[in-house]
Amino acid sequence: MLPRLVHALPFGLSQRITKLYFQALVWNQRGAHSEQGNEDLKAMDVKILPALQDNYMYLIVDKATKEAAIVDPVEPKTVLKAVNEHGVKLTTILTTHHHWDHAGGNEDLVKQHPGLEVYGGDDRIGALTKKAEHNTRFSIGKLNIQCLFTPCHTSGHICYYVTAPDDNSDSAVFTGDTLFLGGCGRFFEGTAEQMHKALIEVLGSLPDNTKVFCGHEYSLQNLQFAAHVEPDNGEIKKKIAWSLSRRENNKPTVPSTISEEKLYNPFMRVTEESVMKHAKKNDAVETMRAIRLEKDHFKG
Ligand SMILES: [Zn+2]
Repeated sequence: MLPRLVHALPFGLSQRITKLYFQALVWNQRGAHSEQGNEDLKAMDVKILPALQDNYMYLIVDKATKEAAIVDPVEPKTVLKAVNEHGVKLTTILTTHHHWDHAGGNEDLVKQHPGLEVYGGDDRIGALTKKAEHNTRFSIGKLNIQCLFTPCHTSGHICYYVTAPDDNSDSAVFTGDTLFLGGCGRFFEGTAEQMHKALIEVLGSLPDNTKVFCGHEYSLQNLQFAAHVEPDNGEIKKKIAWSLSRRENNKPTVPSTISEEKLYNPFMRVTEESVMKHAKKNDAVETMRAIRLEKDHFKG
């Protein structure tokens, strides 16, 4: 469905979003929705691996040992190709939630690469070997992984917070379908209270410079809704312009950071007066409930 133009946006931006929408349709028939990318952090590399129509898989590599983990390997072939190309030792699958477009490649990958540990917070996840709970901790080479339980999109959703051994400035969080750039996942198996806790208390209390790697390339759609909620928020317009230039070059818009999300993501901003006012609520949880409901029906 062709997104309608957002009146809050300058005409030029709306035109470019519409054009990109049609380009994306063509790209989807050609193959990957985006180019692969690499995010070079001090102690780790994060290889950004686009999959399916708009999913992202992430290969996390500990620079010190070359040990690696893969987040949501729905396309095992692409994962194994990257593992070989970069000469890393894959030991672990990190599954954010049981939905097919995230967990659907687990069994096949384990078959092709036996001995992998498979983490996840839900018994519906294929090939699971380690059931994760809130604050379950383990390591990938010298990197520390902390599981953050964020139920709502699904009842067993886990985000993975990754830190370097002795330097907290080098952190990343893999947020699946809980937190997106500019948005959040639908409340399929949970409540506004749970998403409020996940975004404001759990993810919102991570260090500001934590890089956020989410499960889908939904940024432009999310930011269009953000601009509808807060038409006067200049950070949203800036991020839309930046995201457009990335998507026009077929580049991923991930990662963002926790501090950036707090500037433009309405679901991270439910305690802000401007967002509450839009929702006509005076309570953060009720604002969360109202704007999620509105987004579910938003046509852009
Ligand atoms: Zn999902």
